[in-house]
Amino acid sequence: MGVKCFMVHETGRFRARLRRFTFSSRSDCAGNKNWGHDASSEFIGVFEGIKTKDGYWDSDALEKTNLPPKDDPRWPTKCEACDYIFQPGDEWQLFADQIMVGDDGKEYSWRDPVPGMMRYADWYGDYWKGPDGHCLIVVCPDGHPWIIDGQARNCTMKNDVGPFDKHHRCWVRHGVPPNITVDKNGRTCQAGAGSIDTGKWHGFLRNGEFV
Ligand SMILES: [Zn+2]
Ligand SMILES: [Zn+2]
Repeated sequence: MGVKCFMVHETGRFRARLRRFTFSSRSDCAGNKNWGHDASSEFIGVFEGIKTKDGYWDSDALEKTNLPPKDDPRWPTKCEACDYIFQPGDEWQLFADQIMVGDDGKEYSWRDPVPGMMRYADWYGDYWKGPDGHCLIVVCPDGHPWIIDGQARNCTMKNDVGPFDKHHRCWVRHGVPPNITVDKNGRTCQAGAGSIDTGKWHGFLRNGEFV
């Protein structure tokens, strides 16, 4: 049985937690390897997204507008991985996660990847766009995101990246998302056979299904 792909779409709503942390350069945490102290609250609510002039989601503005005062009791006080107590000079963050919605009306989060979940990610810009003018990303069966319109690690034409109609794609996609097939049938390089290899999972995407 393969994993079926399905589209999720952005909403203008973000679910947020309150997060305290330190950068590892400031103080090493005994519990978080290669990272500082860290703790997050439960979700504190849903917030309306704010866009930049160019139309991108502005997480800094969202945070500035909604950051609660530092004496708010919902802020975590202690590191989740050790006994460290946060100091006033440590980081204060409103950690926002965009709510995505599927065609079935169910809510999803890109931070909580479900195999087969597919979305447009046009912020990657002109260089990574597919035949429909969008940049398409999908979650592989092992939870690893795959930028289908991106560049393969083992691309044999590394300098030949650019707009879809002028340059090659390491993976060529056909069909309308999520019912797409990815192969080497088009302007492409010598990398692979149109399959995706995440290191943990290796297979093909055909007719909207991982096989
Ligand atoms: Zn710690
Ligand atoms: Zn290539």
